Amino acid sequence: MFDCIIRNGSIVNGTGAPSFAADIAIADGTISLIVRGLSGTGRNEIDATGLVIAPGFIDIHSHSDLSLFFEPHAQSKIMQGVTTEVVGNCGITSAPVRAIHKAALLRLFETNNFTITASEEKLWNWPSQIDHVNNLVEKGVSSNLIPLVGGVPLRVAAAGMKEHLEPQELDVIKSLLQEELRQGIWGMSSGLYYIPESHFNREELIELCRIIRENNAIWAVHMRDEGQRLFAAVDEVIDIANQSRVSLQISHLKLEGKSNWGRAADLLARLDRARAEGVDVHWDQYPYTAYGSGLVDAIPPAWRAQGIDQVLSRLSDKQFSDSLKQAMLRGTETWRSPLEEIEIEKIIVTEVKNDLEYVGKTIGELATTWQREPVDAILRLLNTQEGSVKVVVPAMSEQDVEVIMQHPATMISSDGKAVSPQGRYAQLHPHPRYYGAFPRVLGRYVREKGILDLNEAIQKMTSLPASRLGLKDRGMIAEGQAADIVIFNPQTVIDHATFQQPCRFPQGIEYVLVNGDVVIEEGEHTGRYPGRLLKKQ
Ligand SMILES: [Zn+2]
Repeated sequence: MFDCIIRNGSIVNGTGAPSFAADIAIADGTISLIVRGLSGTGRNEIDATGLVIAPGFIDIHSHSDLSLFFEPHAQSKIMQGVTTEVVGNCGITSAPVRAIHKAALLRLFETNNFTITASEEKLWNWPSQIDHVNNLVEKGVSSNLIPLVGGVPLRVAAAGMKEHLEPQELDVIKSLLQEELRQGIWGMSSGLYYIPESHFNREELIELCRIIRENNAIWAVHMRDEGQRLFAAVDEVIDIANQSRVSLQISHLKLEGKSNWGRAADLLARLDRARAEGVDVHWDQYPYTAYGSGLVDAIPPAWRAQGIDQVLSRLSDKQFSDSLKQAMLRGTETWRSPLEEIEIEKIIVTEVKNDLEYVGKTIGELATTWQREPVDAILRLLNTQEGSVKVVVPAMSEQDVEVIMQHPATMISSDGKAVSPQGRYAQLHPHPRYYGAFPRVLGRYVREKGILDLNEAIQKMTSLPASRLGLKDRGMIAEGQAADIVIFNPQTVIDHATFQQPCRFPQGIEYVLVNGDVVIEEGEHTGRYPGRLLKKQ
């Protein structure tokens, strides 16, 4: 007797190969048999007639380590068919935390809208990211978690918010990174766009990447610029990967701002050239034309080098605020403003610290209400929310999204947190990718637009990320693989989360199994939480 048998489905095995009809038997959390007309019986039998059976999706770029602490049972990812999340991206992770610079780290979290209450602060002493993620899994999570450690807590632990590292401070960072890798972390993520990681110079990053390389781990990087200086930012990470031989994962590849639109093919050609020269580089993408970020990004980094509070405290000085607005709208000599090439009015407020009535409003709507210019509305919002405002910014072209999606090195990701429409995140108006990224690719880009074929799309969600990570027992439907499985209806699968109504689950994801346990059954969560912490061996 098997634990579970799935009959009559069409198997898309994750390798990109054509689908085939067969039954699947599961025992002890593993796929034990794949055969046509399976004769045995299962304690649980799933009839997959008319449905596709695929490996569970691996979300190569997730931030759920920041949300699961507060809501371990949050369902927005598992409802998409995501059975494994690579958590800890863009340099921002909960740990490691060192007492010496803890206050600076928590303030950085807050300006990223990762707010920890006073009582939770006392718990916030994780010596390592592995330790933190282990704590999450012990509380019970739906999906497996693969942790990365972020460059931000590593750097802050060693040097606080300082701009220049002393050699002994870099040594502290290196030893913290070594320790994380020794404990089973899968790589390091960097947010070079964000203070204080933006202070890392190329030589320092090469040194860190050499350590990552020695451990066969990956470097996932949110680059220094994704707008007007995108190509220079790509050249920088390629050079670092070339010199260190690290396995490079470029996060959320995209072209922001109108002057970049239509250049996706040039961008991919640049990356293909690097690949042809032996640089080990892949990237991920979320399938939308708007990005999500902190509104503090609109303030020149040099002005907020000592923290956003220094800027906010001077806003009543008219001369100061006039020149600040000038910089926000036109950039400075050393910095291009993200506001320059977008429609500021269309920015959507998704999270705030104090006044929930602003959530879901656009900057245009707030400017009208307050009878101010949009740039003034941004400053008023930042000031009243103590710098803690998250936004969604329409900035990319649909055509570029499609061109990037079709490249064989592109993986699908959510770049989102697991959240739910109730509980702590009920007030949130997140980017719709939190709820919809994977079904959106299957429904909109495979079925409706024909941008990808189904087998190719599934490969980008399963075996491709697994092989990049060196994850050998997941990412395919094959005998001996862990029984992480998604069963969906290819005729109906689609996202329902929109920019106006983001907290909506998708449709068509009928069954999801994690380690052989049925977590989603006929589209509903079963209340089972079989997710595990996966450590790199
Ligand atoms: Zn990022």
